[in-house]
Amino acid sequence: MTTFENAKAMGYAALVEKIQAASLTEYGLCPEPLMDKVFRANENTNGVHVHAGLNNADVDGALLALLKECPEKVLSGIDIAAMLVGSSVKFLYLPEQETELAGELKAQAEAHGIIIVNDIINVRETEKDLCIHLVTAADLADLADGVYEDGVYIADGEGKLKKTAADTPVSDLVSLDDAKAVYLGYRYYTPAEAGELKAKDATNGVIRVLTQKDCIVAETGKLLSKDRKASCGRCVFCREGLIQLEYMQKEIASARGKANFQALTKEIGEAMIYSTLCTVGQESSKAALSAFEKFGDEFEAHIKKNKCPAGVCGAFVHIYVDPQTCNGCGECADVCPANCIDGKPGYIHMIDEFECTKCGKCMEACEEEAILQTSGKLPKLPNRLMKVGKFKKR
Ligand code: SF4
Ligand code: SF4
Ligand code: SF4
Repeated sequence: MTTFENAKAMGYAALVEKIQAASLTEYGLCPEPLMDKVFRANENTNGVHVHAGLNNADVDGALLALLKECPEKVLSGIDIAAMLVGSSVKFLYLPEQETELAGELKAQAEAHGIIIVNDIINVRETEKDLCIHLVTAADLADLADGVYEDGVYIADGEGKLKKTAADTPVSDLVSLDDAKAVYLGYRYYTPAEAGELKAKDATNGVIRVLTQKDCIVAETGKLLSKDRKASCGRCVFCREGLIQLEYMQKEIASARGKANFQALTKEIGEAMIYSTLCTVGQESSKAALSAFEKFGDEFEAHIKKNKCPAGVCGAFVHIYVDPQTCNGCGECADVCPANCIDGKPGYIHMIDEFECTKCGKCMEACEEEAILQTSGKLPKLPNRLMKVGKFKKR
């Protein structure tokens, strides 16, 4: 028998009993007993539709691996959810960019009568329907097949999902030894705080450990950029707020940060949480808010000290030729795509900082390892071409 046939054979009352006995809870950001959602949807007498997808705020999409690995399970779970609310109209939402996955699943979904939509779920239009997480659908299918196990999914370094007990300490799942910060559940934590968290706190299956080599400003900017692209733009605070928050992170990373950016981020970010319709607006500012709150030193270094402590933000990184080591071979100038290395055979080469794009190609080409990178102060360098061996430090 198929999974759906199993559920059907069980009958509505027995299935409900099984769901309640297993304490099946809606997955992700809006946890509540699944049957509460079902009973609420059943109050709608105008015909209920079923919508399944990731949480709108989930721009990482790690939990999509479940759909990629076991599509039949998720699709059958959507069928079972539809049976619970007596619906025949079923939608599966995939992130906008996942058009290839949509193509791969199209025929299979059609066989289940499920329509695939590459978009986030419109929370206003689906208010009275049954909206469930993809993982909830998979859990429903497992329950019907009698193989359901309580737990949460966590992605490993290769993006593979592993189900683990919800109360597994985060420190058992990732190494915090070299951690500077941990991004989990849409916000940043210090390693000490992360040590107190559990697997269930990683609501989208992602635990990202940032080390001293990662820049909080750059990482936050990347996250906000993904969030801005995910926003549907219906709520002013989400649409405009994300533009402003992303702009400020990018300005800071480009050495143009201003002292009032923290206060502005707080004002806009907090307003977004309370003035937006769905989890994109409600969650996305938390990365920027928690980054400023917990890693203020790193922001201060960028804004006030003109320094990126991780050496990541290009605007603060200097690439230069060490005049004591350069042998004047010219290899670096040959590979520089910006044509910004000056020199001739036997002369110490010089990089024009204004033109340099910091691509690092010259560093790879220099066998003498004479091209160095620093996010601190530049040492004394020649101000004109001079023969190898002629440069004096003083
Ligand atoms: S918070 Fe509003 S604007 Fe942002 S994605 Fe959700 S519905 Fe769209
Ligand atoms: S490749 Fe290295 S050693 Fe050769 S000229 Fe460039 S900096 Fe000097
Ligand atoms: S980092 Fe790239 S652009 Fe800059 S000097 Fe080296 S090769 Fe040229």
